[in-house]
Amino acid sequence: MISPVLFATHAHLHFPDFTDDLDAVLERARAAGLRGMVTIGTDRDSNRATVAMAERVPDVWASVGIHPHDAGEATDEDFAEMERLARSPRVVGLGEMGLDFFRDLSPRDTQARVFRRQLDMARAVGKPVVIHCRDAHPEALAILGEARVGEIGGVMHCFSADIPVARRCLDLGLTISLAGPVTYKNARALPDVARFVPIDRLVVETDCPYLTPTPHRGKRNEPAYVALTAAHVAALRGVDVETLGEVTTANAARLFRLPLPPLPLGKRAG
Ligand SMILES: [Zn+2]
Ligand SMILES: [Zn+2]
Repeated sequence: MISPVLFATHAHLHFPDFTDDLDAVLERARAAGLRGMVTIGTDRDSNRATVAMAERVPDVWASVGIHPHDAGEATDEDFAEMERLARSPRVVGLGEMGLDFFRDLSPRDTQARVFRRQLDMARAVGKPVVIHCRDAHPEALAILGEARVGEIGGVMHCFSADIPVARRCLDLGLTISLAGPVTYKNARALPDVARFVPIDRLVVETDCPYLTPTPHRGKRNEPAYVALTAAHVAALRGVDVETLGEVTTANAARLFRLPLPPLPLGKRAG
């Protein structure tokens, strides 16, 4: 059986959840067809860990950022270190960054300030942004528009809204990333979004260890399970998973400006 080619655009492989069995997790990801993964930083310590992992593992790249949950604690030194790490050749994006008005773990004005500062940094460094947005789409889209994010490039990770919001993200020049929730029974507007987004603007992710897709919901998530999300999205769109996998992998490579090695023979879809 030939597994589809896939790329996991958003994982937290450096989290303690994976300390005990990371090698086995990575092997299962490769066996599931993953050509690469991006492990995403959320604060000072986790940014260091992402870059250290990407320097060690050739098919894991890093993104460094300050999550809105952690915005209230970020110091000027943290920003300086983030910018230094962001210039590493193993770092392919900045984030996750954004607004989270669902959990509100940092004051909202601080979240907005920290978000804008990272968008400016991404422009200076010349790398795309990974955006986290929960229950704050009008505010986040306004900030992204002011920052002219289309010139920077970026992805709306774990897209959680509806078609009108998806349309505005596309108009801003963003790529849209779908995660495990599109497979859930109460997926709300996500199946419609999965059908609506043009295939060249779509990527898939796990956000592991969180948001495990059906039928593993409730257990730890891992990059190999991006195959389940991809298969679900392919079925919603009425295309085969090989095609969806190949196109979304190419989209991820373009988004993160990654030179992926050529496919081995027999792994090319159609
Ligand atoms: Zn997130
Ligand atoms: Zn995340």
